[in-house]
Amino acid sequence: MDLVLLGPPGGGKGTQAKRLMEKYGLVQLSTGDMLRAAVASGSAVGKKAKAVMDAGQLVSDDIVIAIIDDRLDAPDTKNGVIFDGFPRTVAQAEALDAMMVRKGRKLDYAIEIRVPDEPIVERITGRFTCAKCGAGYHDKFQQPKAAGVCDSCGGTEFIRRADDNAETVHKRLDAYHAQTAPLLPYYQAKGNYHLVDGTKDIAEVTKDLEKILG
Ligand code: ADP
Ligand code: ADP
Ligand code: ZN
Repeated sequence: MDLVLLGPPGGGKGTQAKRLMEKYGLVQLSTGDMLRAAVASGSAVGKKAKAVMDAGQLVSDDIVIAIIDDRLDAPDTKNGVIFDGFPRTVAQAEALDAMMVRKGRKLDYAIEIRVPDEPIVERITGRFTCAKCGAGYHDKFQQPKAAGVCDSCGGTEFIRRADDNAETVHKRLDAYHAQTAPLLPYYQAKGNYHLVDGTKDIAEVTKDLEKILG
């Protein structure tokens, strides 16, 4: 089973992807995570991507398409993947369709986690993750059970993303509306589109997703 999670930055795609992985035996493919890893490694791709990401704009289609094309060849994707943060443009969606055919895969679901702009600034400025295992948290909505200790791995170091600040959030939302929102009619026309209300709390959104996925 392969699925795409669509929705604005901070809409809960990563949070939900992690919660679905285990139950359905899927792997989360986050282009944002992959690009941040490229930036951290200092690779040529990372050098190109860094300034664009810091400015809240989209990295070029060529770069992210090549990253996903490569990643889908790894054996751990065989059971199925959750595309998180990809595709983000119509060109990426078309490239994904072609890639899926070429690789003998099928996109079973395109699910929009819909959240209006208003709650997004608070979601993003309160976001942090465990430095060791990548588990996601929020200052207000998803605190670790024991303060300062990761629920998943016991780690005590946490990181905040350079682009998770109020100024950049508005640019990322602009990019979402201008470049990514046109994907919604693209998938609606295909018939594998589903809508989930992303303003509900985290556990309720997971339940709604499970209703769709079975
Ligand atoms: P968020 O989870 O807040 O939506 P991501 O981690 O998905 O953020 O992405 C962070 C940044 O990485 C984006 O603002 C963009 O610059 C870049 N990026 C991630 N995925 C893509 C993509 N599919 N196409 C272009 N740029 C991307
Ligand atoms: P995305 O991957 O779409 O950018 P995240 O999953 O990283 O979004 O969520 C952004 C922030 O909001 C995180 O700190 C997360 O803990 C929190 N969050 C996610 N879903 C919800 C929700 N339904 N209600 C409140 N906060 C949420
Ligand atoms: Zn951890």
